[in-house]
Amino acid sequence: MTLYALTGGIGSGKSTVARRLAELGAVIVDADALAREVLAVGSPGLAAVADRFGADLIDADGALNRAELASRVFGDPTALADLNAITHPLIAARSAEEFARIPAEKVAIYDVALLVEGGLGGRFDGVIVVEATPEVREQRLVGRGLDAADARARMARQATDEQRRAVATWVIDNSGSLEQLQDAVDAVWSEMGAR
Ligand code: ADP
Repeated sequence: MTLYALTGGIGSGKSTVARRLAELGAVIVDADALAREVLAVGSPGLAAVADRFGADLIDADGALNRAELASRVFGDPTALADLNAITHPLIAARSAEEFARIPAEKVAIYDVALLVEGGLGGRFDGVIVVEATPEVREQRLVGRGLDAADARARMARQATDEQRRAVATWVIDNSGSLEQLQDAVDAVWSEMGAR
């Protein structure tokens, strides 16, 4: 199996690119979904989070109050490092399980928003970075129902385009139309086949 990473800042069009790659035949492993799964109701990850951050983070149904957890780690590097120390190994283990299930002849894509932030840059056969200007991203996120200030705050907490570019094999510019984006993805897909 060849394994590529796909990343991009929030609103860049990463999910749209992942959908196109899936249509072309790639197997997508969604890091965000695995990150939610390792803190699911009744999971050992959730128990560890409750131990470190307080049992009051768990609601009556046994589910994590993610907004409250986010507010407890926001602006507190030690708390964030502790949270990452709980979740990162669990996500890495689940990802490895998913990769192991993919047939050898397939192209696999690890769809991971926080590739750079998680220090995972060097582990893949190649890295696809999706880019659009902050203005375009904000506009698209607002189009998706996000508040503009919230969109800007989320962008500010993520890695910069320069940091993502530093690990990129391919940079897909998504400042144009959806048709242009699809053509760009198809071009990268044919190069991936050639590698
Ligand atoms: P991400 O996964 O990077 O946050 P999405 O793929 O969800 O971004 O794209 C954000 C929003 O912008 C979605 O509503 C998507 O349909 C829209 N979008 C993405 N690319 C384009 C484009 N080239 N032109 C217009 N809208 C786009």
